[in-house]
Amino acid sequence: MRKPFIVANWKMHKNVEQSVAFLHKVLDRLPNGDHVDIGIAPQSFATYPMIEITQHTNLQIISQNAATKYDGAYTGEISVKDLKDMGINYVMLGHSERRRFFHESNQIVNQKVLAAANIGVTPIVCTNEDEESIVINNKRYYILRQLHNVLQGLSIEQLQKVILSFEPTSSIGEGHEMNLQLAERGCQLLRQQIRLFYGNDVANRIRILYGGSVNPENIAQVMDQPDVDGVLIGRASLDPEKFVQMANYQ
Ligand code: PGA
Repeated sequence: MRKPFIVANWKMHKNVEQSVAFLHKVLDRLPNGDHVDIGIAPQSFATYPMIEITQHTNLQIISQNAATKYDGAYTGEISVKDLKDMGINYVMLGHSERRRFFHESNQIVNQKVLAAANIGVTPIVCTNEDEESIVINNKRYYILRQLHNVLQGLSIEQLQKVILSFEPTSSIGEGHEMNLQLAERGCQLLRQQIRLFYGNDVANRIRILYGGSVNPENIAQVMDQPDVDGVLIGRASLDPEKFVQMANYQ
């Protein structure tokens, strides 16, 4: 069985004080971690104080990004090696906002994925609509080409540990809604492709998350879909009460 994973993506919200205050409001109300993994991806400077506070808990502090290189003259970048030394186990890579606003190509995302996997930090690899498409209610959605490009070069062992996330841009952010059918179909299609290219074992083990307008009202429904193993939550995760509610969705 694949353990569900609920990830809060705080994007460029919350300063250090707000991030720490949030933790103090939620920490003793989260599930114990036996049946579900819970993580928060804060702004980079907040990871350190959050790691210190959560080190004896099951809450995972996640990096929103990392560089393709481990060290050197790369102004403004974040080393995944140093993230690991700090106690971070997961890094989100290839989010559609990174692709759209910072021009991250599949090739760059792939280099980041390899850098993370090779040093032992689990990448949460985001994909969205792409060249290959699925049609739901006469609307066409694209997802598959990205998948193969961003996973290139990983060993089967590494692939089993990678976490995928399907994040249709048409469902992310203000003014959008979750499309349940698209959520399941997208995750299902990713798993089918993984099965086809890397075999049953990887396909049965790999966790696939859905992201886009998840909130306390719809989380149980999306988590109930057979190919959805977890969620990546933006806006709704900023509110401690909603976060606690979603973490305890079961
Ligand atoms: P949203 O963002 O929940 O605010 O739609 C999801 C995401 O970008 O991860």
